[in-house]
Amino acid sequence: MQTDRVPLGLPAVLAGPPPAAARPAGTGAGLTDQFGRVATDMRLSLTDKCNLRCHYCMPAEGLQWLAKDKLLTAAEIARLVGIGVDRLGVRELRLTGGEPLVRADLVDIIAVLRRNHPSLPISLTTNGVGLARKAQALADAGLTRLNVSMDTLRHDAFVQLTRRPFLDQVLAGIEAAARAGLGPIKVNAVLMRGINDGHAAELLAWCLAGGYELRFIEQMPLDADHGWTREGMITAAETRSLLAADFDLAPDPRARDGAPAERFEVRHRGSRALLGTVGIIASVTEPFCADCRRTRITAEGQVMSCLFSRTEVDLLDLLRAGTTPADDDAVADRWRDAMWAKPRAHGMGHPGLGDADFVQPDRSMSAIGG
Ligand code: SAM
Ligand code: SF4
Repeated sequence: MQTDRVPLGLPAVLAGPPPAAARPAGTGAGLTDQFGRVATDMRLSLTDKCNLRCHYCMPAEGLQWLAKDKLLTAAEIARLVGIGVDRLGVRELRLTGGEPLVRADLVDIIAVLRRNHPSLPISLTTNGVGLARKAQALADAGLTRLNVSMDTLRHDAFVQLTRRPFLDQVLAGIEAAARAGLGPIKVNAVLMRGINDGHAAELLAWCLAGGYELRFIEQMPLDADHGWTREGMITAAETRSLLAADFDLAPDPRARDGAPAERFEVRHRGSRALLGTVGIIASVTEPFCADCRRTRITAEGQVMSCLFSRTEVDLLDLLRAGTTPADDDAVADRWRDAMWAKPRAHGMGHPGLGDADFVQPDRSMSAIGG
């Protein structure tokens, strides 16, 4: 019995094309939206389940997990990625969750995707728990790269943030992934006031020493507890000043090219020697919606045109339409329609779209696929 679990309030799912702003003919073969953006970066969630309970994502008691038969199967995943790549202009794929490593068929899924798409960059975002055992198999299956989420190097703060004592496993996972050739490894960190904001500089020093690229992500209002406040979050500006006590940061001259992270070159204070780079993802205070290139598919096959979408478009019903499943053209068309309706911006911190216009989505980050 899971009576103490928080039910997942699911957004309205549209079985047909989104009603607003029907896509006119001649909008092109790709995933274009009405504001001229083209999505080429596919984020696919493999599961809503997770073995951590990060405060900024999950409640302590977990969520009501999806029934297994509601999840996309390996064959459905392969079909959707094929449609994305072959018909819709997808050029890179990130597998996420929930925690993708808890999916027993993960290595097989990657092997099939690699066989079907020999040159597609395929990356994985993981919390690193259990990664040490699986890193080599993931590399052998054809995974290109890894992002590992780790917010602190201190055991007590790790337990406070994730509610689980698994920091050593995450550290071992990062090392094993590097040995398996899954670099350049990016480390994702969310800073929480009073828990790990004081650890930002030491985490950066550790990543630079190990050759990992650290990226700080501003905490977004996507926690299942709805406890996020603007005052409580550590902003990108604050992160830069936390790092400035130990490091000089200078804007990375390389083009950002649609990347969510703004990159900075890092040097010890007063030194000219380049140590590496750090990224800061300022989704809340310096949003990059105008240049967003992402299309998201949830673990149960819904298109989310934006992390903050309050409507979703169902592709699973097309894939599973009884004795007459839809053909690839029909699936591609519905996916295009969903992306055409992508909102201009998420509504936080945009001129003309104050926080008052922002409504937190019902899904938490783990149920969307971060
Ligand atoms: N479980 C995997 C992990 O933690 O890496 C993959 C899924 S997780 C939802 C993907 C990323 O989203 C992680 O780097 C996590 O830190 C980030 N994340 C989760 N909730 C967030 C929030 N409310 N604000 C900002 N980032 C968040
Ligand atoms: Fe799990 Fe990742 Fe969410 Fe943490 S951020 S609870 S590891 S899905």
